[in-house]
Amino acid sequence: MTTRTVLHGIGVSAGTSFGPAAFVTPAAGVDASEPACTDVETDGQRVREALNAVAEGLKARAEGAPETSKAILEATATLATDRGLIKGIDKELKKGSGVTQAVHDAVETYANKLRKLGGYMAERVTDLYDIRDRATARLRGLPEPGVPTLSEPSVLIAHDLAPAETATLDPEQVRGIITEAGGPTSHTAILAAQLGIPAVVKATGISAALAAGEQVALDGGVGEIIIAPTEADTAELAERSRRRASALAGSSGEGSTRDGHKVKLLANIGTADDARKAAAFDLEGSGLFRTEFLFLDRDSAPTVEEQTKTYTEVLEAFGGRRVVVRTLDAGADKPLSFADLGEEENPALGRRGLRLSMMREDLLETQLEALAAAYKATNADLWVMAPMVATIDEAKWFEAKARSYGLPKVGIMVETPAAAIRAKQVLSVVDFASIGTNDLSQYTMAADRMQGELANLLTPWQPAVLSMIRATCEGGSATGKHIGVCGEAGGDPLMALVLVGLGVSSLSMAPSKVNAVRAALRVHDLSTCQQIAAYAIDSWTADEAREAALRVADPMLRDLL
Ligand code: PEP
Ligand code: MG
Repeated sequence: MTTRTVLHGIGVSAGTSFGPAAFVTPAAGVDASEPACTDVETDGQRVREALNAVAEGLKARAEGAPETSKAILEATATLATDRGLIKGIDKELKKGSGVTQAVHDAVETYANKLRKLGGYMAERVTDLYDIRDRATARLRGLPEPGVPTLSEPSVLIAHDLAPAETATLDPEQVRGIITEAGGPTSHTAILAAQLGIPAVVKATGISAALAAGEQVALDGGVGEIIIAPTEADTAELAERSRRRASALAGSSGEGSTRDGHKVKLLANIGTADDARKAAAFDLEGSGLFRTEFLFLDRDSAPTVEEQTKTYTEVLEAFGGRRVVVRTLDAGADKPLSFADLGEEENPALGRRGLRLSMMREDLLETQLEALAAAYKATNADLWVMAPMVATIDEAKWFEAKARSYGLPKVGIMVETPAAAIRAKQVLSVVDFASIGTNDLSQYTMAADRMQGELANLLTPWQPAVLSMIRATCEGGSATGKHIGVCGEAGGDPLMALVLVGLGVSSLSMAPSKVNAVRAALRVHDLSTCQQIAAYAIDSWTADEAREAALRVADPMLRDLL
């Protein structure tokens, strides 16, 4: 029996839960020590058996899957036993390649053919790679990669999860997520909060400390993990949930401070499905629609028609409520296969965000055309903004482009220190700004947001980051322009008080975080928020800033964290 062990990581999605551990397996790759093929007949038979087993496994998963994924799994199963693929593998074996090498090379040749055909066929390349990785694992006697099929609600344990993988998780089956790597503003963490799944990242040593099926409990608020929890542990976690629930009780309606200063509470979304789910929450619209999720994990860009359909669905989901759409923010940790501008030494400092759109105007134009069509069809309260703006020229360029499509409200994200300290000038050419505190922290502190080790630097509590936010708000008040926040900081109830105190008038976050932020605002006057902000910004360190804010805030705030 495993002994009770407590580990700590970084809590990124509040809530407590427990369940059996289920491991996400990484793809194994070619076996570098495998023998060359000397008997095509025998090796060919081995590969065919592996592919048949992959197909059977996929069919079995399809049976229990929801309608939307059923068809995809069935089509992938059929592709696993495709005659052309098997012929290609035999050809590689005849050249003398070992079995896993033959699978990889034949799949690559096949994938290139599908890419050339374009459209639906090109989209099958992802399925083909999935088959390759599953067959390789079988040939090497290893478990198949990816999220395992869950027979009961479980806690997922992974080294890290790709954003595309996280986005498809079923919150009914996944009770919690614990990763060894990742940081508080990594996209995996963001998506977990989006799905309302409690999550802890940067849990060093978790994979080694735990076996599949063992019970594990987590508190995604404070980042605590308990392996083999006792009854007392689960009772304590339940008590924390209860205190939180009582602090949240009665949180509803428009966001405002105790003395009636309005703060719009909005949702961060990535898909039309997110929009429908978020719209069902008690909130005032969406302050960040990360449109790049329509573009990720594909071999070609979505068409104007496809995009129009999605944007229309999103705008309709929110009815008359505000929807702030961010144009394509790809590059860095969100690469696009069809907009590859070549290798970069430092992708986070490279041609990402608006810079990529300026080099691939076709992608932005398609997007703006689709947004304009969706706006025309719905007449919604649509705001459009560009990511990663650093100069006034970039802001002007984007503003002119968006206006030329007839879009009514055009803004920028403030994610670079350059935009923050020149906010007054940059804001003079657009209608509004939304502060992306994730990237603003990364670029102010020169600390990679993917690096869990740098979490101390990456927090918006760093006084330098708070100064950047204040500079942006000063630019907003000098120009009379609206300043929102849509980075993870907006969903932290204590930080929300600081942001409002600095002059932010809307906060956008994972829908699951809105209640806590609303409850925190409701018990503080605007002047108290201003006082909390002043204490935080005058602190010398990030820890002191947070402690100072906590000291001035109402004691009930502790139950919301
Ligand atoms: C941000 O940087 O704070 C932001 C909201 O954008 P993203 O997290 O998608 O980079
Ligand atoms: Mg960003």
